[in-house]
Amino acid sequence: MALHVYNSLTRQKEKFEPIHAPHVGLYVCGPTVYSEPHVGNLRTFCSFDMIYRYLTYSGYKVRYVRNITDAGHLTNERGEGVNRMEAAAKLESIEPMEIVQKYTVSFHRIMDAFNTIPPTIEPTATGHIIEQIEMIETLLKNGFAYEVNGSIYFDVKKYNAEHGYGALSGRNIDELIAGYRDLDGQDEKRNSIDFALWKKASPEHIMQWNSPWGKGFPGWHLECSAMSTKYLGETFDIHGGGMDLKFPHHECEIAQNVGSCNHGGAKYWLHTNMLNFNGQKMSKSLGNSILPMEFVNGNHPLLDKGYAPSVLRFLFLQSHYSAELDINIKGLQDAEKGLQKLMNAYEFLKGGKLADSKVITLENEKNRNPLLQNLADIELNKLCDDCEKFMNDDFNTPMVIANLFEISSKVHAIKNNQIPAANYFRATFEKMEKTLEDYLFDVFGLKNENTNAGNNKLDDALQVLIQLRKEAKAKRDFATSDAIRNQLVEKGIQLKDEKDGTVSWSTI
Ligand code: AMP
Ligand code: ZN
Repeated sequence: MALHVYNSLTRQKEKFEPIHAPHVGLYVCGPTVYSEPHVGNLRTFCSFDMIYRYLTYSGYKVRYVRNITDAGHLTNERGEGVNRMEAAAKLESIEPMEIVQKYTVSFHRIMDAFNTIPPTIEPTATGHIIEQIEMIETLLKNGFAYEVNGSIYFDVKKYNAEHGYGALSGRNIDELIAGYRDLDGQDEKRNSIDFALWKKASPEHIMQWNSPWGKGFPGWHLECSAMSTKYLGETFDIHGGGMDLKFPHHECEIAQNVGSCNHGGAKYWLHTNMLNFNGQKMSKSLGNSILPMEFVNGNHPLLDKGYAPSVLRFLFLQSHYSAELDINIKGLQDAEKGLQKLMNAYEFLKGGKLADSKVITLENEKNRNPLLQNLADIELNKLCDDCEKFMNDDFNTPMVIANLFEISSKVHAIKNNQIPAANYFRATFEKMEKTLEDYLFDVFGLKNENTNAGNNKLDDALQVLIQLRKEAKAKRDFATSDAIRNQLVEKGIQLKDEKDGTVSWSTI
C-alpha cells in the first residue's frame, strides 16, 4: 500500500503524491524561543521527526523547514497585546536577542538529547523581515490588506468574499465575526477578525524594523507564509504543526498565501494532537508543564524518577500522532519496560546471534516440519511486512509497535526454547533483525540507552555474574546466588528474574 496521510484540510485520508517526487517539501511551525519548550511541544516536534524519518526511510528526498519564532508574537493565548520576547526580556533584564539566543541554544540541546534530526533549513523570523515586508506589499497591491496609522491588517471579509476563509478550521466567517475577540488593534481594524500583518512600534518597543510604513514589526502568522514560500515554493507538499495552531495561525497562513499568489501553500496539512499530563493539557499558562530535561533527571514533584529520552519518545509513539495523549507515571513505567523488551529482542538477534546459537543452517532448514514451518514462518514474515503497511496508513506507529512486540515475544520464546527455532528459515531471523533495527533506530529514532542488553563491557561483565548466579541456584547454593544479587544492589544494579526465565538488569 502506498503512503496515505490524513489531510486536515480535506478531512480525509489521501494518497500521498508529492508535487515533485522524489522530492518532498515539509514545513513545520517551530518553537517560540522566549522560554523553555515543555513536553507537550516536544511531542509535536518528535512526531514530525518520526514523519521526516519515515519519508526519508521511504526514499524521498525531503527538504525539512522548521522555523524559529524569534520576533515576538503580538498576542498571547487570550488575545492580549503583548510582545512575548520583550515581556520575558524585561523580567530577566536582558536584551531580547539574548533571550532568543539562550532559548534557541537550549531548544537545540533538547532536540539533540531526544535524538531528533535537525531540519534541513531552520530560518528565523528576524532573519526574514524583508521577505515579510515584500509579502505585505503584494497583499496591499492585491487589495487584501489595508494600512491604518503605520499598521497593516489583513482584510478577512474581503478575502472571504473572493476565496472563502475558514476551510481548514471549518469555521464560518459570520460566526467568527460575531464571536471573535481579538483585542489587538481593535480601534483600528475594519473587522474584529482582521489580523495584523505589520504593527507600528512605539518608541520604547525594542524589536522594530524600518518599513515602507514606518518603524514596526511583523505579525506572527506572516513569518511562516513568507519563509515556507521562500524555501519550498508557492505550493509544496506538507505543512505541519500542533492542533492548537489550526486556528487562527494556519488559517491566516493560507489566507496570506492565497491572497499574495493565488496558491494556498501546502497540499497536505498534518496536525499533531495535544499532550496531557494526568488528564490536563500541558501548557505554560496552566502551570502543569514539565520540561523535557526534568523528565530525564526526574527533578519534578509530579515524577517518581528520571526516564531516558527514548522512553518518552517511545511513549509518544505508542499513540497515533493525531490522537490526544494523556501520560502519567504508570504509562512511563510501562513504556520503559516495553522499550527494554524490544531492545533485548534486538540484542538477541543482532548480527545473526540468535540464529547462530540455534544453528540455523541450510542443513537443518531441510529437516523441518513443513506444516509447522509454513505456518510459523508465514506468520512472522507477515508481522514484519505489516510494519510498512501500518506506517503507510498515516504513520500508524501504535500498530507497528504492537507488531514489534509480537516479534519480540517470538524472539524471547525461541531463545528460551519454548518454540523450536527449526520452524524458521534463517532469512526470517534476518528479517526480524532488520525490522527491529529499521523501526526502532531509523524510523522511531530510539536509542538503546537504559538497556540491560547493550553490547558493552558492563553488560558483558554482568552476564558473567548472571550466569554464575544461575549456576549457584541450580546447585541450590542460595548463599552465593543471594550474595551476587545483594552485592550488585549495593553497587546500584538490580537484577530481575523475568517470567520467560531470562534475567535482566537495570541501574537503581
Ligand atoms: P509554541 O512554541 O508555543 O509555538 O509551540 C510549539 C509547537 O508545540 C506548536 O506546534 C504547538 O502547536 C505545539 N504544542 C503546544 N502545546 C502542546 C501540547 N500540550 N501538546 C502537543 N503539542 C503542543
Ligand atoms: Zn507557523
